Amino acid sequence: MKGENRKGLLMIFTGNGKGKTTAAIGLSVRAAGHGMRTCFIQFIKGSWHYGEMDALKRLSDLIDLEVMGRGFTWKSDDLEKDKKEAKNAWEHAKKVILSCDYDIVVLDEFTYAINYSMVDLEDVVETFKKRPQRLHVVVTGRDAPDELIQIADLVTEMKEVKHPFKAGIKAQKGIEF
Ligand code: ATP
Ligand code: MG
Repeated sequence: MKGENRKGLLMIFTGNGKGKTTAAIGLSVRAAGHGMRTCFIQFIKGSWHYGEMDALKRLSDLIDLEVMGRGFTWKSDDLEKDKKEAKNAWEHAKKVILSCDYDIVVLDEFTYAINYSMVDLEDVVETFKKRPQRLHVVVTGRDAPDELIQIADLVTEMKEVKHPFKAGIKAQKGIEF
């Protein structure tokens, strides 16, 4: 989009309530409507098959979905391996961010990799600061570190008011996965 006076934003969806990843998906889909290209990198490979994996494939000319890492952190059998995978995923994400191939880069569940010291926060801050001026970056995940919140342009904290899980209702297709 030539001549457009665009300012790349750093956006963070954090908090304990539901809606962080789905907000990032919604944003990518909205941008695709303008012909904008998104690289959507998932840092935690869940054990479920999420609907967005197939839905986003239908927009594969504009949205690249990359699933990296293992189901790391809480249920890990090999923390060193997880750490290495998270580091590799971040090195890859860095290249994607510094390339000029996309309009938006989403780092989904990235806060966990930072909070478990799998990636270096200083490196993340430096990389975000020197990204292409037009590039929008989205980070999702609970407990976003203050250092990221400080340099972000947009921060939304999803607050749990109610979640069906607490009432013993199982995860629903199309809603949670
Ligand atoms: P979603 O992917 O639905 O937008 P999210 O990205 O905000 O959710 P995560 O913290 O990444 O949520 O958690 C992933 C899974 O846990 C999702 O299936 C989500 O519905 C569920 N979940 C999110 N928040 C809660 C909560 N407060 N209590 C129970 N389960 C939750
Ligand atoms: Mg999520």
